Amino acid sequence: MRIAIIGSGMAGLSAAYDLTKTGHKVVLFDGAGEVGGLASGFKVDSWEWTLERFYHHWFASDQHVLKLADELNCAQQILFQRPDTMMYHKGAFYPLDSPMSALLFPGLGWGINKLRFGINTLYLRFTKDWHSLEKISAADWMKRWAGTDVYRTMWEPLLKAKFGSYSDDIPMSWLWARIHARTAQLGTFQGGFQMFINLLADKVNQQGGKIQLNQTVRSIAPTTDSKLQLLVNDEELIFDHCIATCSPKQLLQITPSIPTQYASKINNLQSIGAIVLVLALKKRLTNHYWFNLPANAGFPFLALVEHTNFVPPSCFGGEHIIYCGQYLETNHQNFLMTSEEITRQYLPALTRFNQNFNESWINQSWVFRSPYAQPVPSINLSSKIPELQTPIKGLWLASMSQVYPWDRGTNFAIELGRRVASHLLQP
Ligand SMILES: Cc1cc2nc3c(=O)[nH]c(=O)nc-3n(C[C@H](O)[C@H](O)[C@H](O)COP(=O)(O)OP(=O)(O)OC[C@H]3O[C@@H](n4cnc5c(N)ncnc54)[C@H](O)[C@@H]3O)c2cc1C
Repeated sequence: MRIAIIGSGMAGLSAAYDLTKTGHKVVLFDGAGEVGGLASGFKVDSWEWTLERFYHHWFASDQHVLKLADELNCAQQILFQRPDTMMYHKGAFYPLDSPMSALLFPGLGWGINKLRFGINTLYLRFTKDWHSLEKISAADWMKRWAGTDVYRTMWEPLLKAKFGSYSDDIPMSWLWARIHARTAQLGTFQGGFQMFINLLADKVNQQGGKIQLNQTVRSIAPTTDSKLQLLVNDEELIFDHCIATCSPKQLLQITPSIPTQYASKINNLQSIGAIVLVLALKKRLTNHYWFNLPANAGFPFLALVEHTNFVPPSCFGGEHIIYCGQYLETNHQNFLMTSEEITRQYLPALTRFNQNFNESWINQSWVFRSPYAQPVPSINLSSKIPELQTPIKGLWLASMSQVYPWDRGTNFAIELGRRVASHLLQP
């Protein structure tokens, strides 16, 4: 069979890996100039490692990553350690990444709130059934079981920072998935995520797949003999199947003939974008890896990540790498701002992490944006998610919006890519 894959991110490459193994003719098209999609990295000459455009790490529970790495013979290049996470509370930062640090966190006081927070976290960590949790919002569930104080101190600021105006309606299943599936041990790949992605892409090539970069799929149309005609840049090409790993709404735009029922499922999905400022500094900014910044604390971003407190500065020519990350709806004015304007808006907040910081510390800076960075789950989403197989024969959708109840991540992109490949191969 001739199979086209739109996107050379983790989902597209994983699907291509399994499909080329079985001898099918696979062509991956990506509008970008490099493989890897959201998880891709870049490098300047003085760095030994590549750096992810958007901050990335794996969890020790990311079994689909570990299995794929094992198959590619590179599992020993995944490096795990336990960098720390800090939480802001009333003008100061406190560790919040272990039962002991939760016990000491001043935001919860010393009484019943600590107990309720602990019991709830344990319940969510060990309960396996999420289905009943998708019927209720995280806000309502937490207020009921952990109490309004715990919700307002611990969860509301984080939900608001991440989902903005959607935050009151996020299903509890989403929060369950984050608490249930994540570990304090975090992993990266030797040389950066891009090195892992390159190994996967090399394997796809060795198995006969073709990866075509700077090739945007502009339209998809079914033909009278049940094949698919793709317009790629300016060339018309015919395939038996096509797997789209782009955003669901993008698939709608390029496939006008998608039947109404499937199109309305896609139209009901919500997502938000991300803007990330990356700085290469001469000096260390903080002693910590990750800072969670509540929406009401007045920071212009929701997370500050000092990557070089996870991967040593020696991997980046001695420079100290900082990410300032923010999720925003795509109609937010910041998406219209220049990189310079974003940088100007973000920089003053850095003195709240280190009062000695000033602009002379900055060697280089970059701003990365993605309009489709985080699907926004809704109540009872499991019954509303578009199926992998679209109603158009041979056309498949495998996007970040379909990994629910899990939060999007490379582990689930790999699982989804492999799952769609196995469905496609079924007789
Ligand atoms: C700020 C941020 C932080 C994150 N942190 C983590 C983390 O710590 N750990 C983790 O595991 N995951 C993390 N993720 C999520 C992770 O990056 C994604 O879940 C994963 O990379 C998605 O892979 P994908 O293949 O589904 O999609 P993508 O990576 O988005 O790939 C889709 C590809 O399709 C291409 N494309 C789209 N339309 C077309 C078209 N018409 N023609 C041709 N090509 C097209 C795009 O160029 C892109 O390369 C993070 C994401 C963000 C934004």
